[in-house]
Amino acid sequence: DSGDIKILLLENINETAVEILTKEGYQVEAHKKALPEDVLIEKIREVHCIGIRSKTKLTSNVLREAKKLLVIGCFCIGTNQVDLDYAAKRGIAVFNSPFSNSRSVAELVIAEIITLSRQVGDRNIEMHQGIWNKVSSECYEIRGKTLGIIGYGHIGTQLSVLAESMGMTVFFYDIIQIMPIGTAKQVGSLQELFERADFVSIHVPETKETKNMIGHEEISKMKKRSYLINASRGTVVQIPALIKGLQSGLLAGAAIDVYPREPHSNGPHFNDELNEWSTDLLNCKNLIMTPHIGGSTEEAQRMIGIEVATALYKFISYGSSIGAVNFPEVDLRAIQVAEEKNIRILFVHHNVPGVLKEINQLLSDHNVEKQHSDSHGEIAYMMADVSSVDDHDIREIYTNISSIKENILTRIVY
Ligand code: NAD
Repeated sequence: DSGDIKILLLENINETAVEILTKEGYQVEAHKKALPEDVLIEKIREVHCIGIRSKTKLTSNVLREAKKLLVIGCFCIGTNQVDLDYAAKRGIAVFNSPFSNSRSVAELVIAEIITLSRQVGDRNIEMHQGIWNKVSSECYEIRGKTLGIIGYGHIGTQLSVLAESMGMTVFFYDIIQIMPIGTAKQVGSLQELFERADFVSIHVPETKETKNMIGHEEISKMKKRSYLINASRGTVVQIPALIKGLQSGLLAGAAIDVYPREPHSNGPHFNDELNEWSTDLLNCKNLIMTPHIGGSTEEAQRMIGIEVATALYKFISYGSSIGAVNFPEVDLRAIQVAEEKNIRILFVHHNVPGVLKEINQLLSDHNVEKQHSDSHGEIAYMMADVSSVDDHDIREIYTNISSIKENILTRIVY
């Protein structure tokens, strides 16, 4: 019964999530802060679902105590704070929200394109120092200029449409062939992108290939007096090369939102985490620096609340694991035969040969309407919709399936 399901939300998760989960009939306990580990362990024993952000560490030590836990919601992008493998081995699915803030990042980049093009950052710093410096030299409109996007995914495509609507021409480079949005055009190499672009904006994930992707050589291939924007990951652009590009005047400006090492808390940090080159960086002209705020908006927080809470209730009440980061992704459209008693069997098990044969034997006397299974490493997950069963059947099915040797977690929802 959904009224028996207990949810613990920590770290001030957005109100949208509390509303969705309460509406589903679950018991929701929400806290503004992260809990100390002993209190967390105490509380996690009792709950079926926990929602966290980046401060709560769900290590195997903590998760070992979570006897009833079915699912973890990370109301953020990162999932490093959770021991994903351990959770999967216990049949606990983990969800996050990787794309809810794409629009926010794209809008920040649009703002930066204009800000760089008009040298607004430097004028703002000067005015704060009481300096009036009215200039038009090397200040441009963005209409008619060319934007080169590296990485045409969720953010790159959003940026593409926004830029075109302001009169820019868009080219993009991606490792996969992608259908362009609007009138953007894909190019075959970074070289080709650098030759055309007045502005280069990077939107790739952090991978082996993208680490240090932009260095001296790449920047030297860019158009003279072009601009470089990085709001992807701090390891993608080599900072010394960026400094050199700006100092030599090859680049007319740059905006960076992400850094090779980033502080974990707000406050003064320049002398430690931000690194040895920080003074050179600070002295660069027309350089906009922001503290990884690309995705930080109220709208993105609300969207994250909706996206993760929806994934959580779909998993709790229907078993759908689409979008889980540590788990096989399985879903079925519900069977709708109103008069008869229908159930959905959810079976998480060790991924070894022979289990499906065993389960199909157990279900052979019943009417299996639909069935779907998938695996992810050592874990497999089967979902089956069975119709026309009575209470005795349900008890029997549950007992039989949960007694299979490879069983990790069996649930029946109806
Ligand atoms: P995405 O996965 O939707 O898109 C990434 C694209 O990059 C894909 O199309 C992929 O094919 C392409 N790609 C991968 N490797 C490539 C390579 N070597 N060369 C060219 N293209 C390559 O990701 P997204 O949601 O658009 O996010 C992009 C980046 O933005 C990520 O690094 C993410 O961490 C970062 N991000 C930053 C903020 C912020 O606050 N600044 C917020 C959200 C996301």
